[in-house]
Amino acid sequence: MATNEYDVVVLGTGAAGLTAAVTAAAHGATVGLFEKADKVGGTSAWSGGMVWIPNHPHLAEIGASDSREEALTYLDALSHGMIDPELAEAFIDTGPEMVTWLEAKTPVKFQVVEGFPDYHPEHPGGKPKGSRSLECVLYPFDELGEWADRVTVGRQMPETHLRMGETPLGSSSLDPITSAELERRRVRDERGLGQSLVGRLLRGCLDLGVEPVTGARAKELVVVDERVVGVRFDGADGPFEVRARGGVVLATGGFEWDESLVRGFLKGPLERSVSVPTNTGDGLRMAMRIGAALGNMQEAWWVPTVDVPDPGDPDGGTFPYLIMSQRTRPRLIMVNRQGRRFTNEAANYNASGAAFHEFDPTAFEYKNLPAWLVFDQVHLDRYGFANVRPGQPAPDYLTQAPTIAELELALGLPAGGLEATIERWNEHVAEGRDPDFNRGASAHDNWWGDPMHPGEPSATLGPIDTGPFYAVEVNAGALGTKGGPRTNGTGQVLDVDGMPIGGLYAAGNVMASSMGMTYGGGGGTLAPGMVFGYLAGKDAAESAGTV
Ligand SMILES: Cc1cc2nc3c(=O)[nH]c(=O)nc-3n(C[C@H](O)[C@H](O)[C@H](O)COP(=O)(O)OP(=O)(O)OC[C@H]3O[C@@H](n4cnc5c(N)ncnc54)[C@H](O)[C@@H]3O)c2cc1C
Repeated sequence: MATNEYDVVVLGTGAAGLTAAVTAAAHGATVGLFEKADKVGGTSAWSGGMVWIPNHPHLAEIGASDSREEALTYLDALSHGMIDPELAEAFIDTGPEMVTWLEAKTPVKFQVVEGFPDYHPEHPGGKPKGSRSLECVLYPFDELGEWADRVTVGRQMPETHLRMGETPLGSSSLDPITSAELERRRVRDERGLGQSLVGRLLRGCLDLGVEPVTGARAKELVVVDERVVGVRFDGADGPFEVRARGGVVLATGGFEWDESLVRGFLKGPLERSVSVPTNTGDGLRMAMRIGAALGNMQEAWWVPTVDVPDPGDPDGGTFPYLIMSQRTRPRLIMVNRQGRRFTNEAANYNASGAAFHEFDPTAFEYKNLPAWLVFDQVHLDRYGFANVRPGQPAPDYLTQAPTIAELELALGLPAGGLEATIERWNEHVAEGRDPDFNRGASAHDNWWGDPMHPGEPSATLGPIDTGPFYAVEVNAGALGTKGGPRTNGTGQVLDVDGMPIGGLYAAGNVMASSMGMTYGGGGGTLAPGMVFGYLAGKDAAESAGTV
């Protein structure tokens, strides 16, 4: 069994782990960076790469203003007692510092995703016109050398050469991208989204001599005199152990791919996970084994998904596709097994998790699972659906019927329920309002809706009146879980008595999130992950005596 010694050991190569690693290394630490998968980047590389940083240093460029007070007021308004104020303050206070530091010391370069509203923008301190969501500018992957092919690419966004506004994740008002521009970007493999974020952080690590070790699954923390001093791994060539003088940073993502942990902790059904399948709660288990306190365990970054054919699967399998702007456009509603609407379809995806988890105590069942998206031919022609482009024929995975009555029958819904729902919906749409669920009342709903009706309720309200009619089952999915070991404001893991466990840090989806059950705005998961990675990397480097 070989033993290597570092100042700081980081487990996981998502945005949280890479930020911890680059920060520790730039503060003079020797860093060991270990990844369980064969490729680096985790779910972060599959993501849109948006980072939600209130009061960040790029505000002046877009003539916007923000403050610590507004940001804390906003989080407090959404907290429902779930957000730990120490963590919220650490996040809000450190976010701007982290952006400035990363831009000064690493290849990371951000720009504002203009106009992207907060997810609950009408709450106190919210930003209906956006300003808090950042993304990295395009990054030429040829600068990564042999590492360019070792960054994982997700199925939702196989075209890597896009910016946020050019994908349905970044709003429905897609910026046009010409084929000439796409070709230009391909010359140096200029990538956007999570690819750019991960690529830039990875380059920063490589520049400082931190080369990730892939295929290395951390299994167990080594504890001496109540302090974490190392990690035991399963590697490609068998077990090995490393030592860490300053600390070990857990950045191993959530536990969404571990059935027993999901069953044991989450507050409601999780039907689909869209993260990398290596996120099986290893960091959580390691922390539990040595007596870490846990927090926020019932929560995930909930998101509705629809199963669509996986073009990369020769056996004809499917993968869960995130339904973002698709849910919010006119001429589409979401109904339960009674054929009734049950929520504002255009509301923030994370908050819609609560609607899927509504429980009927008499029937003793989840009222809104299963659920279906229902839409008409005009919707399909105008907006397409998931990976189907406008004007393309309806794919086989949609249930199709010439009338609503026949659609009901095909879905096995009670006769007349869906018809009555659609009749009511169409009446309200004609009046330009949704008295049942207030769809179209928030700047959020309208931003994601039809770009031809900017800022208007008609961006998201539209009649379902032109057959054939379509339906597809929608699932309660998650981007990842957000509970785990509790930390203090510097990312140190706490024990069950609330005291820091010497030498152990956590950042990203592995930790008890600083966001409680909230998703503040676009980038609301990556941002706290990176901020706590930054705090942890710096503190661990300091503990090793390198600063
Ligand atoms: C399509 C899509 C779009 C998204 N867009 C956004 C967005 O724009 N903004 C946003 O904020 N969020 C977004 N998200 C969510 C976001 O990607 C995740 O919440 C975030 O990436 C989590 O970061 P992380 O570093 O904690 O975990 P990950 O990025 O998942 O990294 C964890 C890493 O740890 C590794 N690992 C696990 N166990 C071990 C072990 N035992 N030893 C060593 N390594 C281990 C994993 O293999 C993985 O590589 C999106 C997600 C998806 C799927």
